[in-house]
Amino acid sequence: MFDKFKEAILKEYPRLSPESKFKFACHKGLSCFTQCCGDVNIFLTPYDVLRLKMALNLSSGEFLEEYTLPPILAGEKLPVVLLRMEDDERKSCPFVTSDGCSVYEDRPWSCRMYPLGIASGKTAQRADGEEFCFIVDDESSCSGLNEGNEWTVAQWWKNQGIDLYDQKNESYKEITLHERFREGKGLEPAKSHMFYLACYDTDRFRGLLLESSFLNRFEVDDEIIEKIRTDDEALLDFGFDWLRFSLFGEKTIRIKGDVADEKKRELGIDSNN
Ligand code: SF4
Repeated sequence: MFDKFKEAILKEYPRLSPESKFKFACHKGLSCFTQCCGDVNIFLTPYDVLRLKMALNLSSGEFLEEYTLPPILAGEKLPVVLLRMEDDERKSCPFVTSDGCSVYEDRPWSCRMYPLGIASGKTAQRADGEEFCFIVDDESSCSGLNEGNEWTVAQWWKNQGIDLYDQKNESYKEITLHERFREGKGLEPAKSHMFYLACYDTDRFRGLLLESSFLNRFEVDDEIIEKIRTDDEALLDFGFDWLRFSLFGEKTIRIKGDVADEKKRELGIDSNN
């Protein structure tokens, strides 16, 4: 279904540039107010999960269990996290109220983007496919379109704080667009589980780093260890470095033996000694 939708977007939807203009306003007086907050697939990025769990004062595990669908950790695809809609007639978002979004300041990336969507022509064969914005809905389902202020795409981006979300998700995006995944190679269950912990269940990932033999095996500066302990964003950044190291063999993390060997090499000592 997603493939068909993507095909239609690539073929039929007008492509917007940063300077393209549209009119949009969403407010309580509209007949469709909050209707778009139901019966919708909302994929959560790692930074979305981090912001929401902090806003709700929950651990990552508590948030994921209460508000998201169980991930598929075995199979060809990378695990994704979807917001779990309520089991009511409208399949409402758990955060929608009659006054609007109860987590507005920390709403997910895709909610900030609305009424814009983003599509990419990137495929396994083509890494440089153009990325472009389009208007997700039409006036028959969204009466906020052609209401209120006129925006350029670039102005909307700034107004909705999307830049910050993009910046925080940059490493995640690079990992998910890695050649390995574009070629359709999946992850074995243990690595898939690790991916899920590092990206989403970050409090459990923190426990794994600090309470296992991890720090005996890998060289991590004291300053970074302290940040991992206390700073969720730094922990997420470390998780991305760990994934680059463990999935693609990039030198983003150093093994203690390697560090010792490097020092020996610098001093001209045979590392077998
Ligand atoms: S998070 Fe907020 S804006 Fe997004 S669907 Fe739910 S209620 Fe609507």
